[in-house]
Amino acid sequence: MTLFANAIETIQIGVEDLLRNDERRVLSAVRNVHAGVLLLCKEKLRRLSPDDEILLAQRFEPQPNDKGEVSIEAVGRNTVGVDDIKKRFKAFDVPLDWKRFDGMADIRHHMEHSYFKGGRERARQAVADALLVIRQLLVEALQENPLTTLGPDCWTALLENADLFEAELQACRVTLEGVDWDTEAAARALPDFVCPSCRSSLVRQRDPNNRSQQNVALTCTACGENSELGPVLGLAFEETFGAESHIAVKDGGEPPISACPECGEETFIIAEGRCAACDFALPEDATCAICGNGLSAEEYYEHEGLCSYHAHVASKDD
Ligand SMILES: [Zn+2]
Ligand SMILES: [Zn+2]
Ligand SMILES: [Zn+2]
Repeated sequence: MTLFANAIETIQIGVEDLLRNDERRVLSAVRNVHAGVLLLCKEKLRRLSPDDEILLAQRFEPQPNDKGEVSIEAVGRNTVGVDDIKKRFKAFDVPLDWKRFDGMADIRHHMEHSYFKGGRERARQAVADALLVIRQLLVEALQENPLTTLGPDCWTALLENADLFEAELQACRVTLEGVDWDTEAAARALPDFVCPSCRSSLVRQRDPNNRSQQNVALTCTACGENSELGPVLGLAFEETFGAESHIAVKDGGEPPISACPECGEETFIIAEGRCAACDFALPEDATCAICGNGLSAEEYYEHEGLCSYHAHVASKDD
């Protein structure tokens, strides 16, 4: 069987697993669809290789050949892994929605390594993520027709699954729309809300009519666990502000979010001077009583109005 046929068949088997009304097949659905997507990525690398499938090898090295020239030869038997697939797609200018790709992989990982209820909803989200990646790989990267290559049954099931998931997601999001968020950051992070227990995006407000942030109580449609707003915001901020934080730290600057000294979540917003999850706020005139430098939330909370340096000096004088 060719690599491409194998990829298509693996996806088809995964979709059949999902369509079976059998909870035991749910993990197998996610595994197969994920494996099929990886195989499609490899098919792209195979087609990009000159004539020797060299880009499928994990390692390759220059070697002298019998014509006295240099050729690039695969080393070892291992095939390319996810990190190298990402690097090679980038090097060869093949765009792919890696956020969706990683989302699907995270769900697989989480399903394999934790016990939780509601597997079908999680599988639905993974396969909905997969649909967009599969479409991009087939249509843009491989120039294949998804309907004819996957067959109408499989392709329709993928589209219907994505619609079902999207409808459920919208129903959950609607319950959060009326909330008056105390911070802009919380409102901005809304699309990244996930359940702290199972990481599903199907998080809803228990009382859909509640408007006050203080009274927000959340529950997960996928696993049924209730959760506080704090941990949900903490996880959402990692997504929403993760890239900004990474760049800020790399450039030696200050990340936009820090740990809140009051509630301990990573939800203190530097620009807004307050925590998104609890009512802790840093007064605008929070300065060190000795040197007059501005104080961080941590310093203000821990050192009774002194900067870290002067708090350290004061503790030595005692
Ligand atoms: Zn959950
Ligand atoms: Zn807080
Ligand atoms: Zn000071």
